[in-house]
Amino acid sequence: MNEEEKNELRESLKAQRKEVLDDVSRHAAKGRGVGVIADETERADKIAENMVEHALGYSESKLLEKIDYALERIDQGTYGICENCKKEINIERLKAKPSVSLCIECQTKKESGAS
Ligand SMILES: [Zn+2]
Repeated sequence: MNEEEKNELRESLKAQRKEVLDDVSRHAAKGRGVGVIADETERADKIAENMVEHALGYSESKLLEKIDYALERIDQGTYGICENCKKEINIERLKAKPSVSLCIECQTKKESGAS
């Protein structure tokens, strides 16, 4: 993976992260009838993020976890390496789903239940 691809994937992870958070904050704001989200200041951002954390569903928080983990791995330079077999994950696979941490073989094995 070259720097350009890495940056591209980082951006796409960030965009995905924002999407999940935006989605959840919309639900949270709707449910509670509060207008915190409208404010663009950093403090409001923090409050919104805390609220969002409470409002997160299981699958959403799992996804966010994966995205954060992937971003961490980009910083550490271990991104794109399969966590199971330590081979490089196919770049097309990463582009399609940047939060993955397993290569297609390991993912398939995991999903089919055989380890
Ligand atoms: Zn693998």
